[in-house]
Amino acid sequence: MKKALTIAGSDSSGGAGIQADLKAFAANGVFGMSVITAVTAQNTQGVFAVQDIDPAVIAKQIEAVFEDIEVDAVKIGMVSRIETIETIAAGLKKYRARNVVVDPVMVSKSGYHLLNPAAESKLTALLLPLATVVTPNIPEAEVITGMKITSLQDMEEAAKMIHCFGPQNVLLKGGHRTDDATDILFDGNTFRYFSSPRIATTNTHGTGCTLSAAIAANLARGYAVYDAVALAKEYITTAIAHALAIGKGVGPTHHFY
Ligand code: PLP
Repeated sequence: MKKALTIAGSDSSGGAGIQADLKAFAANGVFGMSVITAVTAQNTQGVFAVQDIDPAVIAKQIEAVFEDIEVDAVKIGMVSRIETIETIAAGLKKYRARNVVVDPVMVSKSGYHLLNPAAESKLTALLLPLATVVTPNIPEAEVITGMKITSLQDMEEAAKMIHCFGPQNVLLKGGHRTDDATDILFDGNTFRYFSSPRIATTNTHGTGCTLSAAIAANLARGYAVYDAVALAKEYITTAIAHALAIGKGVGPTHHFY
């Protein structure tokens, strides 16, 4: 069985973060492992507290996994702060991690800063060059590029700019645009488009986490980047269609529908 590692934050309500990643790994046929960067107290209504894990303990988790087990793909989610980013970048380089999917998590849907704004440029400088695929949504792409993104043309331009930071592929997710939910995949040469129908649900907690984890699972299983993204898109679309009305707020996507 192929093995995928998520390096991300814990979501006590199980809809996003590490918990979503491990469910998405299982649902997509790979063995899941986790390095926890932060523990959040959250539910479907918001994030109420965050405890960042000591960078030395993050480094030890990375070492414990890579020294013992072959890692076929890595997904990176919530990275909180500069020291966490530096620790992860050093670990990925040391172990020559491959099939790395970076989800540049910045602000939760409920408005909580999961990445310290002071660390945004560090994420761009240290983690994007290590990425096989980086998966920004539009607000994240706006932070990375400094651009305002409204049209598909803007998305293409932003994808080109983000590609210059060093990732092999940029998947710019269009879900935040109101008129069109097209995602764009750019490999430095060609733009490919993914369109899926917009699903009428408010239960979308953890969609970004789930998509990036599914891409990592598919890369671990040996799919080429385009196919890994296309399959992950199908998966997240169905997971959103079956989203669960759990809790009083924004419910999670359903991993095993
Ligand atoms: N909590 C953690 C630990 C996350 O990593 C993420 C997203 O990446 C979220 C929350 C965001 O959840 P939401 O989909 O509600 O914005």
